Parts: sequence; structure tokens; C-alpha cells
Amino acid sequence: MSENRFDIVIVGAGPAGLAAGLYAARMNLRAVILDQGPVGGQLLNTELVEDYPGFESILGTELATKMGDHAKAFGLDVREFEPVEEIRLDGDDRVVKLVSGQELRAPAVIMAAGGLPRKLGVPGEAEYAGRGVSYCAVCDGAFFKGQELAVIGGGDAALEEGDFLTRYASRVYVIHRRGEFRAQPILQDRARRNEKIEFILNAQVREIAGDVKTQAIRYEQGGELKELKVGGVFIFVGFVPNSQLLKEHAEHDANGYLVTDRDMRTSIPGVWAVGDVRSQLTKQIATAVGDGTTAAVAASQYLDALRDKEPVAG
Ligand code: NAP
Repeated sequence: MSENRFDIVIVGAGPAGLAAGLYAARMNLRAVILDQGPVGGQLLNTELVEDYPGFESILGTELATKMGDHAKAFGLDVREFEPVEEIRLDGDDRVVKLVSGQELRAPAVIMAAGGLPRKLGVPGEAEYAGRGVSYCAVCDGAFFKGQELAVIGGGDAALEEGDFLTRYASRVYVIHRRGEFRAQPILQDRARRNEKIEFILNAQVREIAGDVKTQAIRYEQGGELKELKVGGVFIFVGFVPNSQLLKEHAEHDANGYLVTDRDMRTSIPGVWAVGDVRSQLTKQIATAVGDGTTAAVAASQYLDALRDKEPVAG
């Protein structure tokens, strides 16, 4: 077998991809997993994990390392910092082209590429990104010790990360465009109990202005344009799936998530989708791991069926 030919190529080394990789490698398949960064995916942006069975409380980074090491122990070929440019079809081959130019081929590809934080899309956001505007509390929170911060959004990420940021910040304003949160009740209760958190509701952010030290958030509330000065702005307004890596047309939902059947099959034969890139009810570590497991088993059966069709030698 050529060094660029595999049984399964897995794109994305978060919990979904790593679970798929662990199962594939343990089933003695020649499997490789690629990620643009280190292993862990969204685990690396999660402070504490308290809802993954068997781990009452574990750091996201620690769970990421454990999952990576576990898959490697079964022989998974793990390639970090190898961004993928595109996935396309070439006859029976699924071709994964890396940004480096290298092409990996396999009959089966598991898309576990997750997604990227959605942008708010207001003036100043891009300009101050990395200079006062952040999408990762664990990565950047410590830079803002003792300062007042703003969190924008009303989902799980906004409330969880807002609560986390009070470890460093003197005050965290959670600015949300509606009067109700979509975050889980447990996260809402935690944020409400946190005396450092103040809510600014029914407020639509229009602009982020300021300089490197201070951000001025201009928002509209009750028909009035208001301004809030903070040291930093953390934006958590959702997630855009990385489904565009797949160059062929695959069925997807209105938000770009890939649609699969119960075996994680996409509408393209030989391509499975798992974890955050897939259209589903929830994005949890446990569901991602379940997706990856299902896809690896389904892909293994698919490979067996392909082999059954091959002419018998001699
Ligand atoms: P999300 O659930 O999609 O919430 C996005 C939030 O941003 C919503 O409150 C939304 O407002 C708001 N929003 C979207 N576009 C906006 C805009 N242009 N301007 C202002 N506000 C805007 O996204 P998420 O919180 O990133 O979570 C993503 C997924 O990860 C979810 O499935 C979540 O359950 C999961 N997650 C779970 C945990 C956990 O279990 N601990 C932690 C983090 C994330 P509306 O409510 O008005 O639509």
C-alpha cells in the first residue's frame, strides 16, 4: 500500500474524530487522523468538563490529551497541524488534499471537522480580533485580570464562558439580543448566582470601537443607542460547521450542517460525518464520541463490503 493510501482518513481530531480513530485503529484498519491544530478540537476551548460519563470533573485540555493518547496507543496515525484544503471524489477514491499539497486517498472518509465560531459581523469586530476581541475565554481570559469584560450571546457558550471569565474579570456584562436565553437552565442559574455577572438584555450590538486597551461596545436597546466601555469583548454567538471542506455536493441543513442517516452516512457514499459538523440535536462530547464510534463501525462494514466485491485472485 502506498504511504498516502489508507482504509480511512479522518478529518478533524476532536472527540468525534478521535473516537472514530480509536475504533478504526483497534479494528486493525489503516487509519489516519488530521487536524489543523493539536488534538482535542473544542475540548481545547472548554475549561472544565463535568458531563462526560466517568469523569466527574476534568479539564478540557486533559481530556483532549487522554483521548489523543488513547487513540495513538491503538496505532492511529495522528497528524497534528496539518490543515485540510478540500475533500473530493476521484472514482472510488475519497481524496483528502492538505494545505501542504499532499493528497491522502482512501475508500472511506470520516468528516469530523467541527466548525468555527460565528462572527457577529459588526464594524470593529475583525479590526480588534486578537486585540481586545476574542472567541475563546480559556485562551484569552487571563489577559484581562481585574478588568470589566463583555460577553455577547445567549447560548451555552456565552453563559458558561461568561461565568468562567469572572475568575479574572472584576465584572462581566452578558449582552444578549433577546430577553430569554437559549442556554441550558443549569448554566443560566449559575450565571444568575454569580454576583460579578450583569445582564444587558434585548440589546443588539451595532459596533465595537475603541483602542487596544478599551473597547467601546455600541448597542441598541429600546430604540436607544448606548455605549459600554470594557477591557475586552468575548463573542459567543454560535458556530459555523466546516462542511465546506467537502467539495462535492452533500445534503446539508439550512445552517450548513451535514445531514446523515443513523449510521452517520452522508449523502455521498464512502463519506461519514460526525460531531459538530453534523446536523443533530446537541453538540456534546458524549454524542460526538458516539457519532465517531458509529461511523467507524459503519465504515469498517463498508470496507468489508467493498472487499467482497473485489475479484478473487487466482
Ligand atoms: P448557540 O447555542 O447557537 O447560541 C448562540 C447565541 O448567540 C444565541 O443566544 C443567539 O441568540 C446569539 N446570536 C447568534 N447570532 C447573533 C447575532 N448576530 N447577534 C447577537 N446574538 C447572536 O451557540 P453556542 O452557545 O456557541 O453553542 C453551540 C453548541 O455547543 C450548542 O449546541 C451548545 O449546546 C453546545 N455547547 C455546550 C456547552 C455545554 O454543554 N457546557 C458549552 C458550550 C457550547 P438567540 O438566542 O436570540 O438566537
